Amino acid sequence: MDSLPTEIFNPLELNSFVGESHAVLDFLSDYCKDVESYPAQSQVIPGFLKKGCPDYAPNSLELLESILDDVCNNIIPGLSLPSEIFNPLKLDSFFGESHAKATKLVGILPLNFRPITTLSSAEFALSPSDVRMAMKQDLTNGLFPLFFCATIDTTAAGAVNPLIGLGLVARDYGMWLHVDAAYAGSACISPKFRPYLDGVELCDSISMNPHKWFHTNMDCRCLWLTDRRSLIESLSTNPEFLKNKASESHDAVDFMDRQLTLSRRFRSINLWVIIQRYGVANLRNHVRKDVELAKHFDGLIATDCKFEVVVPRKFALVGFRLD
Ligand SMILES: *Cc1c(COP(=O)(O)O)cnc(C)c1O
Repeated sequence: MDSLPTEIFNPLELNSFVGESHAVLDFLSDYCKDVESYPAQSQVIPGFLKKGCPDYAPNSLELLESILDDVCNNIIPGLSLPSEIFNPLKLDSFFGESHAKATKLVGILPLNFRPITTLSSAEFALSPSDVRMAMKQDLTNGLFPLFFCATIDTTAAGAVNPLIGLGLVARDYGMWLHVDAAYAGSACISPKFRPYLDGVELCDSISMNPHKWFHTNMDCRCLWLTDRRSLIESLSTNPEFLKNKASESHDAVDFMDRQLTLSRRFRSINLWVIIQRYGVANLRNHVRKDVELAKHFDGLIATDCKFEVVVPRKFALVGFRLD
C-alpha cells in the first residue's frame, strides 16, 4: 500500500498549475454563461451523493477532466445556490495553552482549566498516572472533570501523547476525550505514523486540519465523532425560516446543527478535489518527503554546537534552541 508512486509528485509544477487553472476557469465561466438554465433548487434527495461515493479514497491520482465531470454530474445537481461552487469542515478543539481559549468560549472559568505539567525526560508527553492523580485531586476538591484533550504533536514541543493510557483514564472518569491531531493527523495516512493513533478507538472525537499538510486552502478542518448526538443536541436550532422538507424529514445532514454559525462555505469539496487529484499514494509521498527534509535539517543542527534540538523529532517539526 505504501509503495512509492510511479509519477513524480510536484504540486507546484508551473505548467500543470497554469494549464489546470485555465481549465478550471473555463469550467467556471461555462457555468456562469449557462447559469440561467440551471434550476434554483437542489434537484436531488438527501443521501444522493453518498451512493455514488467509493468506500476508499483513490490510491493514485485522477485526471482533472474526470474530477470536473464528477463535479458536473454529482455536485452541481445538489447545489441550491450558484455561489456555492465558487467557494472552496471546521469545528474547534482546544490545544496546549490555546485550549484555554476554548474553555473561555464555552463558559468554563479559566480557573477550572487544568494544564498538566510534562517533563522533558518524557519528551513532554502527558503521563496517564499524573493525569489520574490530577483527576483524583479535582474530585476531592469538589470539581467534576468533564473534558480532556490529548494532542498528537503539540505545537510548541512536538509532544505525542499516549492515547491508550490516557483513553483509559478518561473512561474511568467519564470525561469526553478529544484528540487534537491538527498537524500530525495528515501524516497518519502513512502506515509508518499510523501507530501514533493507536488507542484512538477510546476517544470521543478527533480532529485534523488538512490545511496544514494536505495542500488544502485555509481553512479546512475534519472532525470525527464517536457519537454525534451530543454535538447536534448542543448546537441545533430550528427556527421557522430555516425549515424545509429535507430538514423536517431529518434525512439531510444539516451542518448548521454541528457548528456555531448557520451558514458555511463548501470547504469539503476542496479536500475532496485534493484527494482525487493527488491520490493517497502521492499524499503519503508528500508527507514522507517533508519528513525527510526535517530529518536532514535535524542532522545539520546536530553538527552545529551553537544549536540544540530540544525534543526528538517525530514528524516534520524540529524544535531547536540556541545553546
Ligand atoms: C495548528 C494547530 C491547532 C490550531 O488549528 P486551527 O484550527 O488552524 O486554528 C490546534 N492544535 C494543534 C496541535 C495545532 O498544530
